[in-house]
Amino acid sequence: MLTITPFPQNKAFPPLIRTDLQTLQVNLGYRCNQSCRHCHVGASPHRTEEMSARTVEEVLAFLGNGKVTTLDLTGGAPELNPHFRYLVAQARGLGVRVIDRCNLTILEEKTQIGLAEFLAEHRVEIVASLPCYLEENVDGQRGKGVFGPSIRALTRLNALGYGQAETGLTLNLVYNPTGSFLPPPQQQLEGDYKRELAARYGVAFNNLYVFTNLPIARFGQLLRSSGKWESYVQLLKNAFRSENLEQVMCRSLVSVDWRGRIYDCDFNQMLNLPIRVPDRERIYIGELADMSLVGNRITVADHCFGCTAGQGSSCAGALREVGRVKV
Ligand code: SF4
Ligand code: SF4
Repeated sequence: MLTITPFPQNKAFPPLIRTDLQTLQVNLGYRCNQSCRHCHVGASPHRTEEMSARTVEEVLAFLGNGKVTTLDLTGGAPELNPHFRYLVAQARGLGVRVIDRCNLTILEEKTQIGLAEFLAEHRVEIVASLPCYLEENVDGQRGKGVFGPSIRALTRLNALGYGQAETGLTLNLVYNPTGSFLPPPQQQLEGDYKRELAARYGVAFNNLYVFTNLPIARFGQLLRSSGKWESYVQLLKNAFRSENLEQVMCRSLVSVDWRGRIYDCDFNQMLNLPIRVPDRERIYIGELADMSLVGNRITVADHCFGCTAGQGSSCAGALREVGRVKV
C-alpha cells in the first residue's frame, strides 16, 4: 500500500520541459454522436467545430516531414469529420502509425457505412471507450442505450481480426472512473475486463488503458455543481507522484485543434492554454515543421495533477504499475 503525504493546497504543479516530439494528436472537431457526462471536450451532436480540408492538408504536409511517427486522431467523434478517411489513408501511405479514438457507437451511425472495414484495411489502431463491462455503469456515464451498440461494435471489430492474436490489428479499451475517484490499478482491471467481456459477450481486446478524469469541461462542471471540485483537485494533489513527471504525454506530444492551433495536450486545448513559444501568442500546424520544441516549457496548471496522481494517466493509460492507491 502506498503512503500518501498530503500535497499542500497552495503548491503549484512543478515545471515540465519538452523532449523529442513523437506524436501529433489531432482533434478533428467537437461534434459527437454522444454527450457523455465526463466528456473533457464537451462534445455533443450540436457542436459544429470541424477541421477544414485546408487544415487537414497542413497536417499531412507536417506528417510528410517525418518529424513524428504517430498520428493520434480524436474529437468529438473524429470519424464524423468529412475528411477523416482521406486523412487516414494519406497518413498510412506516408508510413505513419494512425490511432483512432473511437467511441464504438459511431460504427452503427447511418453515415458511417464501411467504417470498421476501412479501419481494418488501413490497419488503424483503435482506442475505444468502455468505462465498464456492466451495462448500467456504461449507460450511466455515456448515455442510455450506449452499451448495446458498443458491444455489437466490439463483436464486429473482433470478426475483422481486431483484438485477435497474430492479426496485428490492435484494439485497446479505455476505462475512466464513473465518478470523482481515482481509477483502480490498470493491470488488475485489465484482467477483470478480459475475463468478464469474454465470458459475457465473447469479446476480446489487446490492452486496457486506465484514464483519470481531469477536472475540466463537462466533468469539471459536474464537480462544481455538486460542490466537489476543490475536494477532487485535492484528491489528485494528495496522490501526486513525482516519478510520473518523467512520462507525462505532453513531453513528447503536441495537440492540434480544429483550427490548426497547437497546444501541449488535448486538455490544454480545452482550457485554451496555448503552447508557450517565445514572442508568440499562438502557433499553427503550418509553422510546426520549421520549429523545434525541445527544451520548451510546458503550460501547466492544477488540472495537470490528474496526469500525475497514483499510477499516472496519459493517452496510453497508466504511466506505471502500482498497487491499489488509497486516498
Ligand atoms: S467522451 Fe468521447 S464519446 Fe463521449 S461525448 Fe466526449 S468525445 Fe463523444
Ligand atoms: S494536463 Fe496536459 S500539460 Fe498538464 S501534465 Fe497532463 S498532459 Fe501535461
